[in-house]
Amino acid sequence: MKIADKNVVTLEFELFDRDGQLIDSSQSNGPLVYLHGAEQLLQGLENALAGQGLGEELSVELAPEQAFGQREEGLVDRVSRENFPGVEHIEAGMRFQTEMEDGSPMLVTVTEVDEEWVTVDGNHELAGRHLRFELKVADIRAATPEELAHGHIHGEGGHSH
Ligand code: ZN
Repeated sequence: MKIADKNVVTLEFELFDRDGQLIDSSQSNGPLVYLHGAEQLLQGLENALAGQGLGEELSVELAPEQAFGQREEGLVDRVSRENFPGVEHIEAGMRFQTEMEDGSPMLVTVTEVDEEWVTVDGNHELAGRHLRFELKVADIRAATPEELAHGHIHGEGGHSH
């Protein structure tokens, strides 16, 4: 079986930045399970994986434009602590869901805190970074009709409803 649309694929992976620093891996966070062709992975990864077979290993490098985009300094904001009602303790690294001006949700990460102000960054944590994925195809199976109807996978690594 080769990876194609409507397959559920399990990947073992290691993710490195340009300097060879390990950012994430299946060893620490478990394998990545996704529905191929459903835009759940970065397009560059899906393209590289299409047609690969079980046990295949591949290395995929993505520039920021192909991954999570360039950093936008406009997404860094300094806001008053009063914007965090009911949050007793705020520290760097915490994440909050907020709203963009158009009302769409945005996840921000706190990068700095002082007595009065909180600096938040709405960039994806991997924005602006060159990424190198070392992938191994650990499993390929056909998606069930139910999974296709839902557009996501069920069972291990997926929804459990
Ligand atoms: Zn479902």
